[in-house]
Amino acid sequence: MRTCAIKQSKGYIPAFHGKEVECVCEKHGVSRVMHLDGSTKPPECPVCMQEQEEKKKREKAEERRKKHLRKIGIRDKYFNESFITYKPQNEKAAQYLQDLLALAKNPRDIFVLMYGNSGTGKSHLASSAAILNNGIYTTWEFLDLRLRSTYNSYAAKKTEYQMMMYYCTIPFLVIDEIEKGKNEDAKMRCLSLICRERYERNRPLWLAGNCNYKWVKTVLDSSVIDRLKQKGKSFNFFWESYRPKLREAEAI
Ligand SMILES: [Zn+2]
Repeated sequence: MRTCAIKQSKGYIPAFHGKEVECVCEKHGVSRVMHLDGSTKPPECPVCMQEQEEKKKREKAEERRKKHLRKIGIRDKYFNESFITYKPQNEKAAQYLQDLLALAKNPRDIFVLMYGNSGTGKSHLASSAAILNNGIYTTWEFLDLRLRSTYNSYAAKKTEYQMMMYYCTIPFLVIDEIEKGKNEDAKMRCLSLICRERYERNRPLWLAGNCNYKWVKTVLDSSVIDRLKQKGKSFNFFWESYRPKLREAEAI
């Protein structure tokens, strides 16, 4: 019979009575563990207990990571994606991957514009850049929704001015799917303002959309296009989508 007292952070808890017993684990073999007198639970393998504890810690860390990714706007689909998991479909895509990774690692005040066909990996790379920089990822439609939600003066937590200032000043911002949404006037006004202000404040901005450069020129005012030319790098994802290939693979 052995008596033990367990030290806890708030002092000592009353002594308990137990004895050392043999514990046989299928996975870890035989070990000797302390077992409480009168306990109805069988003795537990200390290695299994430690493994369970570590598993719980990993799950909690993973939950925290996902919560953070949701907070910065990343969609679930890209939670486990990065520049490393991007699979270039051709030589141009491989070059873009290198160039965009270098820009994401050292964004400085550079503007990045990714345009072209859908399903070519723009959102994958844009999300990866936001994750790498702990920045904010949004789409035009969500940005527009958030701005319009500020018009409800009773429910809104922030004013339109505060929201615009937020998008103009946060250290790293990605606006994806710039081609979507119907309100073209609001889009031109907001995107142009964000671009101009971020340019003046030396903040990087990544824009992405399933569109062509000609369309981009219609949605941003000419002064912004001039700034983009000065401080920007554009990437034309002109090749075919990889999605039909995926569908073919699934059909096999
Ligand atoms: Zn075990």
